[in-house]
Amino acid sequence: MKTHQSSGGCHCGNISFAMETGNPLSTHNPRACDCTFCLKHGAACVSDNLGNLDIPIRENNDLARYRQGSGHAELLICQICGVLVAVCHSVQGRIYAAVNSRSVDNAHFGGEVTVSPQRLPANDKIDRWQDIWFADVRIRA
Ligand SMILES: [Zn+2]
Repeated sequence: MKTHQSSGGCHCGNISFAMETGNPLSTHNPRACDCTFCLKHGAACVSDNLGNLDIPIRENNDLARYRQGSGHAELLICQICGVLVAVCHSVQGRIYAAVNSRSVDNAHFGGEVTVSPQRLPANDKIDRWQDIWFADVRIRA
């Protein structure tokens, strides 16, 4: 697979990431979740189920892992600069994750689409994450 490499992170550099996607980011349509948390951040997620994502964290004590809604996903937020970087879900030792398109550096995405995962039952939501989020994820504290 020809891969496209991108990077990003929070504002202060405590949380960074590198990701590889099968298609250029210009072909990705960030998913703007309509839950009250994502609305307040203006967040929109991007991911590639066949790609990979590496998230090194400089100071783990300055990483907030926030849960809201059904509580099945963890939102990774820098406690120093306040940027929402990614969302992840762990099952049986495997981490699934998507990044907040706002935290990607120098990225030009396709048009955003509004999504409403909060309307889905928890199991359907988790199935969806496993289908579309990065499934090859490392979070390195
Ligand atoms: Zn930061």
